[in-house]
Amino acid sequence: MCGIVGFVGKKEASPILVEGLSKLEYRGYDSAGVAVLKDELIEVIKCKGRLKNLEDKLSEEPIKGSIGIGHTRWATHGEPSDVNSHPHSNKNESISVVHNGIIENYLNIKEWLISKGYEFLSETDTEVIPNLIDYYYNGDLLDAVMRAVSDMEGSYALGVICTKEPDKIVAVRKDSPLIVGVGKEEYFIASDIPAVLNHTREVYLLEDKEFVVLTKTGVEIFDEHKEKVSKDIYHVTWNADAAEKGGYEDFMLKEIHEQPKAIRDTMASRITKGNPISLDKIKLTKEDLENFNRIYIVACGTAYHAGVVGKNIIENLARIPVEVDIASEFRYRNPILDNKTLVMVISQSGETADTLAVLRESKKKGCRVIAITNVVGSSVSREADDVIYTWAGPEIAVASTKAYVTQLVAMYIIALYFAEIKETISKKEIEDIKEELLSLPEKAEKTLEKKEMLQKFAAQNYMHRDMFFLGRGLDYAVSMEGSLKLKEISYIHSEAYAGGELKHGPIALIEKGTVVVSTITQMDLKDKMLSNIKEVVTRGAKILAVTFEGNNDVEKSVDSVIYIPKTLDILSPILSVIPLQLISYYMAKQKGCDVDKPRNLAKSVTVE
Ligand code: GLU
Repeated sequence: MCGIVGFVGKKEASPILVEGLSKLEYRGYDSAGVAVLKDELIEVIKCKGRLKNLEDKLSEEPIKGSIGIGHTRWATHGEPSDVNSHPHSNKNESISVVHNGIIENYLNIKEWLISKGYEFLSETDTEVIPNLIDYYYNGDLLDAVMRAVSDMEGSYALGVICTKEPDKIVAVRKDSPLIVGVGKEEYFIASDIPAVLNHTREVYLLEDKEFVVLTKTGVEIFDEHKEKVSKDIYHVTWNADAAEKGGYEDFMLKEIHEQPKAIRDTMASRITKGNPISLDKIKLTKEDLENFNRIYIVACGTAYHAGVVGKNIIENLARIPVEVDIASEFRYRNPILDNKTLVMVISQSGETADTLAVLRESKKKGCRVIAITNVVGSSVSREADDVIYTWAGPEIAVASTKAYVTQLVAMYIIALYFAEIKETISKKEIEDIKEELLSLPEKAEKTLEKKEMLQKFAAQNYMHRDMFFLGRGLDYAVSMEGSLKLKEISYIHSEAYAGGELKHGPIALIEKGTVVVSTITQMDLKDKMLSNIKEVVTRGAKILAVTFEGNNDVEKSVDSVIYIPKTLDILSPILSVIPLQLISYYMAKQKGCDVDKPRNLAKSVTVE
């Protein structure tokens, strides 16, 4: 998830591009770059690090021209480095491209282009795009871009310039955002509205597969069949600050809503119908897996909770014993580690100090280490033997939401990969789970539609000092995450308990009016969970249940129910966590808390 901008008009392009990028840095800041076209030449300046580095470079070697494109990167393919920074160009630098998204079939395209004599400098997926456009170019840039994107699978928002048509920018989007800003004899493209707000409030909101040609005399929009599209201008009334949050009040709420896309992106190219699971560059054989006598999943906070789900599903699907542990405990308890141990560390930032220490210690002891992280080039990604990236995009709110669900997706991918190699479940079962996984982005959208009910629930209950989250099996794992979210941002004390454990102590805390959120998605445990609910209802508790559509009988046992779309029991955490996130969000809002920056917390815990 990065930010792209483009400008065509009469003014100097590069300061306008840099100013636009400064409004998009929230989308990524691994590197930045611009390409400006003048006198039928494209000049590219790009470098690793924050936008400030690019600004410094541009002040040393300013580039002139009134048409250009710019990029601020959040790396997905290839570490953050100068050469992997955008814009990317073809060999003779006649075409330059900025890209936001992932080209899933880039390896195939790259191989094919190499067979045609093309050469590549970077590790990015993006670099295939200018080369593919070059291959198709036959005097019409729009045509060449159209042909190139028809070969591409995945997501993209593109800005393209070409020395042979030095008066225009061609842009297109699919599954990545892109808007067009309409000024007076000047036109813009951008990933998001704040990037153009200093120049115009009139924008076109592009749909997927719409192509735009921008010149200093106007904007033309085409559909994928090159038919002209006429569109209404959207007049922006928000201020820049609100626009950066995509119209949401807070980054956390925005990120909760980005989950369907984050789930989809993390599965992309790894889970496809009828094909074996593809685990990026990781290659594990049946012998490798049989050599491991145990897996440790080690992490902190929310990532640890993803690990708790991981333990359950890897044991269930792949029949390998898994222990899950908190990194700060694990590293000091002298665990038994050797070359028969597979260690998986999970860290959103890839910089979590305790998790990194576990990774280093495990490697020293001869373990194979797989890292699951959201940040390309982070310490854990560099030091682990293998890495699986969650493609959630930058997470800005301190309380993790979209990173958590993508960590869950990574756990499912790994569990299925192991199950496939070990043949612990049938091909048909694997296909069924994959098919259901692929339907989860849409079901997550549907789950988000319940937000008004959850807002109401929060309005009625935010004044409580304590809350409980109950569940069994995977529902317990998700309850732990729901409880942590509530503590983190609303400062309401809460505890998560396994349904069957309650009567061994904590039930003493239940009194008249105590609020309990119970998740009931494990159908073989449903009756047992309903009995546990009865136990707390008898003692005066008020229950909100989260369960699958169709479980209408639950209503008889509780005060209110949030229904989520039916999925396989084993996949329910991806959906059932969403109402819990929304409960904590709305509780915190009711209390007037700063949800994006909760007190005493930091986004990435880089100290012990
Ligand atoms: N996949 C491209 C890269 O890694 C674009 C990154 C993005 O949009 O997140 O450079």
